[in-house]
Amino acid sequence: MNYLQVCSAPTLADLEALQAEISCVPSLEEHFEVTKPKRRRPQVIILGIPNDVDKDRLIKGLSAKNHFLCDAKNNPLFEVNFSMRAKYSTNWIVSVDPSIYKRLFDDSGLYFEFSRFKFDNFFGVKQCKHCRRIGHTTKWCPRAKDVLCDHCRDDHLSASCKEVSCINCKESNQRTGSNYDFKHKPFDRLNCESFQKQKANLVRLTDYGAP
Ligand SMILES: [Zn+2]
Ligand SMILES: [Zn+2]
Ligand SMILES: [Zn+2]
Repeated sequence: MNYLQVCSAPTLADLEALQAEISCVPSLEEHFEVTKPKRRRPQVIILGIPNDVDKDRLIKGLSAKNHFLCDAKNNPLFEVNFSMRAKYSTNWIVSVDPSIYKRLFDDSGLYFEFSRFKFDNFFGVKQCKHCRRIGHTTKWCPRAKDVLCDHCRDDHLSASCKEVSCINCKESNQRTGSNYDFKHKPFDRLNCESFQKQKANLVRLTDYGAP
């Protein structure tokens, strides 16, 4: 059996229409089943873990001290995704099963070995450090070889530009006719409507469990 996955969150009507279309073609019906795409699992960032802790030790340690993070058979209901080195410690990004998301935030912290650690929601919006655009990382930058303006990352010489502006909000205004204020730095996530929009998209596609 093949699975035909519809990638952008479809409405029920979309799925029914697709289902109807497929069932009109007998040979197709045998090969496809229409399934709803799985929504993302929520991610959290655990702050300040000592640098010498590796992934395995983190999984074991979190499971041992926070019983609700495991199911009845002691299998972790979380997955350690990756780490980000901070100045004196390491922050870890962990995705959690929707069934424990609420409990996680109701409890007073996460325990690991002999300490309690702070954590927060993590929104993995990709942003390129070279061209500052949202949606890809530096490794995949299509403009990697281009020299861009130091101030605004547009295609002109830095000397002719002194303006602080956000390339994402500026381009969104040009392309989609949005009316975003673009007089902020491109990593100023609090004031960047382009970032806030991406974050809202992520939230919409994430399953935070039953309310
Ligand atoms: Zn880029
Ligand atoms: Zn510029
Ligand atoms: Zn912006």
